[in-house]
Amino acid sequence: MDKRQQQLADLQVHLQQLGEQFAQRLREELPQLADKAQQLQQAAEPGEQLAYLGELREQLHKLAGSAGTFGFTELGQRARELELQTQQWLNSLQLQQQGLQAFVEALQQLASSHQQAATPRQQASASNTLSKGARAESVYRIYILEDQAKVGETIRLTLNTFGYEARHFLTAAELDAALVEGLPDALIVDVNLGSTQQSGLEYAAALQKRLEEPLPLLVITTQYDFHTQLQAARIGAMGFFSKPVDVAKLESRLERCFAQQSGEPYRVLIVDDDRDLSNRYSLVLRGADMLVEVVNDPQQLFEAMARFNPEVLLLDVNMPDCSGPELAQMVRFNDDWLRVPIIYLSAETDIALQMRALIKAGDDFVTKPISDNSLIATVFARAQRARLLSNALSRDSLTGLLKHADIKEQVAIEQERAQRSGKPVSVVMLDIDHFKQVNDSHGHAVGDNVIRALANLLRQRLRRIDSLGRYGGEEFMAVLPDCTGEQALHILDGIRQQFSLIRFAGELSEFSVSLSAGVACGQGLSAAELMEQADRALYQAKTSGRNLVRLATEN
Ligand code: GH3
Ligand code: MG
Ligand code: MG
Repeated sequence: MDKRQQQLADLQVHLQQLGEQFAQRLREELPQLADKAQQLQQAAEPGEQLAYLGELREQLHKLAGSAGTFGFTELGQRARELELQTQQWLNSLQLQQQGLQAFVEALQQLASSHQQAATPRQQASASNTLSKGARAESVYRIYILEDQAKVGETIRLTLNTFGYEARHFLTAAELDAALVEGLPDALIVDVNLGSTQQSGLEYAAALQKRLEEPLPLLVITTQYDFHTQLQAARIGAMGFFSKPVDVAKLESRLERCFAQQSGEPYRVLIVDDDRDLSNRYSLVLRGADMLVEVVNDPQQLFEAMARFNPEVLLLDVNMPDCSGPELAQMVRFNDDWLRVPIIYLSAETDIALQMRALIKAGDDFVTKPISDNSLIATVFARAQRARLLSNALSRDSLTGLLKHADIKEQVAIEQERAQRSGKPVSVVMLDIDHFKQVNDSHGHAVGDNVIRALANLLRQRLRRIDSLGRYGGEEFMAVLPDCTGEQALHILDGIRQQFSLIRFAGELSEFSVSLSAGVACGQGLSAAELMEQADRALYQAKTSGRNLVRLATEN
């Protein structure tokens, strides 16, 4: 059993336990409900009747929402019907003895039938089809299907320089043969594969159908029309590029595909006064690889948000002291949390009420009882979108790297961490050589491609714990925790060599570019001193002839 299967098995056990716990709760609560109905029947005072009715409605409402979620589908539906009955009585204030008798009996019936058959019919287990399965850090394998040898080879070579393991196939038959040995991490197909073959899109469509999970797919083509794009979208393409292909752009798209697959788990905060229910949601979402925290008391919400920094908020609508929509409005008082989508967990079936609640401050609704799959799918989609947006806002648009202020802040954070742990930390300043000439000879757009290519190369080569930012136009800064100056020098020198090998397509000719870098490392130095030393080392590299990496010597 691998780790993931084990997790799912554990989840099943937990869900089972929660189901049993809930069943136990029902064994206590259902007879109490039936008793309360009897008290209602015996009450003579209208005021007394109203109080009982209100309580019954409240409890049935909760029951309707929770029972289905725990697998007691019929009981949940029955509770919903009885809730509606109480609602009607509350609206009309006309209690007929006959109806009341039936109501009491129905509740007694519910209680006794539950005592006998008290195991929930488990719903389908937490789906794993949507899970993001963590990926080990290793080289990504990319397959390219392109009938033009030169085009395919250029893409292959460039992707290899970026640190991918790319292979190029001229025909579908060759690619099929390679697929038998194993699947790549992404596929790039040309639409036109010459007159004798089927189109690349048809090939990819058939392949995707055979796979359990579709492959990240990029399409390259000379046909940039609507119909071809639609076809590509329908087979799940994540990118569409016209020829001649800008490989740096292609590469950033690949980067984005993989970032979505292997990013950090999404952080979800659940607010629900019902402990059993919120625990259940939490388990289901954790089973889909999300990080979950639960708040049962709405008053704890803001403290939890500040500490946990959730990417999605799940709010129960009906809670004793304050409603979900009210809470959502309070969350929206704070600009820092504007990016966090709010999803209501509601047992409301009244659409008008949902709309009013939603318009106030929320983004979405899931209605109790909630199936595990729809809960996962809703939260997943919102979290994914929120993270994409958040990245778009806080990251440099050309390179996707941290912006100037953020990378500086990151240096400070890592420097402090290093101080505490006694481990080394290295700071790198990096600048493209004679970049002005690139712009002058080939134009600004080509210059942009070079910047993007370097950003991608750095991202590929640095570790996940390293932080990387675009410090200025063609200047980058990186901070490498737990890394000595010599180690950083070695890594950067490798990157320097690789970068100088990339062939860029200019207006008229191909060209290559070099970079210079300065590395600083030293315990006891402040963040500002580290950056200053790295900058001085970079200056030395420039004055010593460029295409060099220099390590700062102290003082
Ligand atoms: P050196 O080797 O000394 O670093 O020379 P250089 O030409 O690279 O240095 P300089 O700082 O003189 O020129 C940097 C140029 O980078 C100037 C600026 O127009 C260009 N640049 C800055 N940001 C961007 C950008 O986002 N896109 C493009 N295409 N060019 C940019
Ligand atoms: Mg420069
Ligand atoms: Mg510069």
